[in-house]
Amino acid sequence: MDCTEAKTLLLARRRASLDADARAQVDAHLAECAACRHEDAADAQLSMLLEKRLPRPDAPASLKRALEERWIVPARPRKMGRIARTSAAMAVGAALAIAGLYAWHARAPDDALVAEAVNDHLRVLYSDHPLEVESGGIHRVKPWFEGRLDFAPVVEFAGDDDFPLLGGAIAYFIDRKAATFVFKRRLHQITLFVFRADGLHWPVAAPVTVGAAEGSIVTLRGFHVISWRQGDLGYALVSDANEGDLRTLATKIAGP
Ligand SMILES: [Zn+2]
Repeated sequence: MDCTEAKTLLLARRRASLDADARAQVDAHLAECAACRHEDAADAQLSMLLEKRLPRPDAPASLKRALEERWIVPARPRKMGRIARTSAAMAVGAALAIAGLYAWHARAPDDALVAEAVNDHLRVLYSDHPLEVESGGIHRVKPWFEGRLDFAPVVEFAGDDDFPLLGGAIAYFIDRKAATFVFKRRLHQITLFVFRADGLHWPVAAPVTVGAAEGSIVTLRGFHVISWRQGDLGYALVSDANEGDLRTLATKIAGP
């Protein structure tokens, strides 16, 4: 098992949703690989922060901006030393603490997909290594997923001047792997998750037309989540960019 595969499974391992065989392989990799152990520890801390201490929905824009800028620096991990990355992570932790504690309420099943999308978006924003493949265009990002997923993520949109594609990564979405694409709109990061749609509870509130598909748009803690299904695949698009911009991007991704 290589580092990329191991990192993909760290979250599933902590959620105890790996089968015994996969778990043993990840454990064996962690026993040998200090870099992945560090990643696992940092990500565990991040998960705790995301689940227990989130900025209030009305956190000032300046704070959100500060958090996003924290993320933009670690986006080039090869140029950052460990100390810089650690201090960035600490700064995020401090900023989250300053933002105030957010009480995490039990949610209806319909909201689980939306909550997961927001958490996973934050996980991308605050990660040490948010992008496994940096964009040289969609033609470099899409082939990277081959062999790493058991489905082909269908995304018609290649990025443009309004919504440049920054890159991609594998994420773990609820109980399954997802292709993650990161776009940008001015200073806002936008994360797209593409995953197998079967067996999930889809939001039914706030229906919205997404190109040829019907979806839903929900706002949670200041982040908009547009989710929709196309064929066997599910899509969740998340950002604090304005709703109109997010709808525009969703339509580009879904196709007319
Ligand atoms: Zn490793």
